[in-house]
Amino acid sequence: MDESTQVSGSEALFARARAVSPGGVNSPVRAFGAVGGTPRFMRSGAGAWLTDVDGNRYVDLVGSWGPMLLGHAHPAVLAAVAETAARGTSFGTPSEPEVALAEEIVARTPVERVRLVSSGTEATMSTLRLARAATGRDLVVKFAGCYHGHVDPLLAQAGSGVVTLGLPGTPGVPDHVAADTIVLPYNDRAAVTAAFAEHGDEIACLITEAAPGNMGVVPPEPGFNAFLAATCRQHGALFVSDEVMTGFRVTRSGQWGLDGAVEGWTPDLLTFGKVMGGGFPAAAFGGRAELMDLLAPSGPVYQAGTLSGNPVATTAGLTTLQHATPEVYERLLSFSGQLQSAVSQALSAAGVAHAIQTAGSMFSVFWGVDGARDFDEAQAQEAWRYRAFFHAMLDAGVYLPPSAFEAWFVSAAHDEEALSRIVAALPVAATAAAAATPSE
Ligand code: PLP
Repeated sequence: MDESTQVSGSEALFARARAVSPGGVNSPVRAFGAVGGTPRFMRSGAGAWLTDVDGNRYVDLVGSWGPMLLGHAHPAVLAAVAETAARGTSFGTPSEPEVALAEEIVARTPVERVRLVSSGTEATMSTLRLARAATGRDLVVKFAGCYHGHVDPLLAQAGSGVVTLGLPGTPGVPDHVAADTIVLPYNDRAAVTAAFAEHGDEIACLITEAAPGNMGVVPPEPGFNAFLAATCRQHGALFVSDEVMTGFRVTRSGQWGLDGAVEGWTPDLLTFGKVMGGGFPAAAFGGRAELMDLLAPSGPVYQAGTLSGNPVATTAGLTTLQHATPEVYERLLSFSGQLQSAVSQALSAAGVAHAIQTAGSMFSVFWGVDGARDFDEAQAQEAWRYRAFFHAMLDAGVYLPPSAFEAWFVSAAHDEEALSRIVAALPVAATAAAAATPSE
């Protein structure tokens, strides 16, 4: 790694970036705020590996925050994208790839109709509008620690960058907007029951991450999502399952494949993103036909996007999903399992108390606690140990999420070579975590 006193390529770029962009980044967590140091500016990715502008190579366990299920620069995705782009990159008309991607989503998930958008934020934002229009109600219920994008009413006690940066609240969100959001502790049935008992006939929808990954991975307790779906139904509210992170990742049909499909219930609306864009800006929301047909132009609820269903993005997403076979999901689970064991062994050997929580192949490490079932418990961990661990791993060529409150993502391209690099890096990083102090 580059330990010289010269300014590295990443440092030089970060200085340029800070002069023209807030914090030098276009999405806050990338700035290394929680772990300190200079963010690495990446030049290329291939399979499980990233290379930065200084030529340093890293095993990537961020995967662009979820989309890169097949690994970077997958040959089939590149070929399909090149072929599509050569015929023009955006028409502002309907085109074939967006239909094929919508068909694939409908085939894999319980949605009957799907609307394509460009980001997960747009998807969740649009479900709120649709739920409010369908029910004629205003209130929205969400859980502390869940992140649904930077949608005004959903930023209250949000996870991801909001918790990473320790932001106090949601400046810029008018009080009257925040007042329409009820925030509850995750995995807490009594709190849900009480909120619906008090406000049931005013609640348009409850939105939850299908398996939260934005306060670290905090999976739903068995039956929790079914309970949420039933509570919403009982009170005439819509149940919105946010699968932007879990969709097409934890199983071929997302978290719903692990609970709803087995237990026999269906969310009213689902949101998707990340994997279904194959590394391009594409996301979606969907649900029952009669609900989705309230959207313009079938119905009166307006929703639109200049680049929605973009042919290049939808081609990348479709090709990714076509290559996301049952073998790929087995591989992800198996690699993730090996990785979790290696991390756990190294931390135990260094005397670092920890817990690992999973949702499919997604996982995260909780430091100094025996797990977390909600946001308060997630925040009670010794997140400061992560700084030392993160930098030791980075120095040894392993790129982890730059925050303890994020999931680690593996790809189908992670192999023995990638695992060896990680395993070799772990003892030093675990020792650094053991020696860390809160004030560092
Ligand atoms: N919902 C969940 C569960 C997410 O994890 C994210 C992003 O991380 C979003 C929504 C927002 O997606 P985007 O960043 O594409 O706007």
